[in-house]
Amino acid sequence: MPEPAPKPPFFAGVDLGGTKILTGIFDAGLNCLARAKVSTKPERGPEEVIARIARCVRDAVDECDLDLKQIHSIGIGAPGTIDAANGRVLFAPNLKWEDVPLKKSLEKQLGLPVSVENDANAAVLGVYETELTGKPRHVIGIFLGTGIGGGLILDGKLFSGFSGTAGEIGHMVLDVGGPKCNCGNQGCFEALASRTAIFRKLSEAVGSGKKTILTDTLGSDLKDLRSGDLRKAIRKGDKLVESIVEEAAEYTGIAVANLINLLNPQVVVLGGGVIDALGDEMMAIILETASDYGMSGAMKGVDIVASKKGDDAGIVGAAVLARRQSK
Ligand SMILES: [Zn+2]
Repeated sequence: MPEPAPKPPFFAGVDLGGTKILTGIFDAGLNCLARAKVSTKPERGPEEVIARIARCVRDAVDECDLDLKQIHSIGIGAPGTIDAANGRVLFAPNLKWEDVPLKKSLEKQLGLPVSVENDANAAVLGVYETELTGKPRHVIGIFLGTGIGGGLILDGKLFSGFSGTAGEIGHMVLDVGGPKCNCGNQGCFEALASRTAIFRKLSEAVGSGKKTILTDTLGSDLKDLRSGDLRKAIRKGDKLVESIVEEAAEYTGIAVANLINLLNPQVVVLGGGVIDALGDEMMAIILETASDYGMSGAMKGVDIVASKKGDDAGIVGAAVLARRQSK
């Protein structure tokens, strides 16, 4: 798209998730001016979801009293396999999308340039630009939520691999023959340490007669369970929840060690809803396990830290993508 007259440097960052769409409007310094949120409703199909993204962007723009004309460009972090060069979502199982031309459709709706990247790649960019002020050259981001996403910054740049699919940290197999993963394999990191995995193990344990205080408030089917409930239960001395969360933290530590042995990063940053809620409970175990499994040479001087960005990592990272279009 040819660039007409220069526009003020405001950017929209969109985090497209399976259940919600978040948009933030940012200035060139990546300060967030306003946010908006709408539900995704993927069951209505890609066209309707893209219309909802457009609405969410308009809402956020309106919220900070700007006009859409003042937005330079839009970045989107989308789940699944992304063809970033062409802005297409190739495969996103949780949206049930196959080869959706997200960039083209949204550009048509909003009349602004759009860039699309994998959501975890966007999130690691967001953390890199706003939290890691020392600007390390080699950074690994791991985001534990409903699934587990990863992003690699190598030599100061997002590493996307031969055909753009690199960074699927959640699908490293850590337990051969282990629990089934959404990708079809067994024993993936995601099937062992995501929120979904933790909740599944807890339900199985309750089903086999183990006791947790969570059933007192949520019933035996543990409906409406949230990551924050796990933290509260552990703080009240719930041994079952503690052991399941500990196990997830150990698998995370093993994943971190594998990645450190392979890539020798300066920083490994952990984020996402599970780390937000359970960072205090998990980080010490992650560090300890990583140092048990990491090769001593590779572990030396590596920082393993929790992101403080929470949900915002996705929208900030998407705004970084948008800002790159202005350079
Ligand atoms: Zn998998």
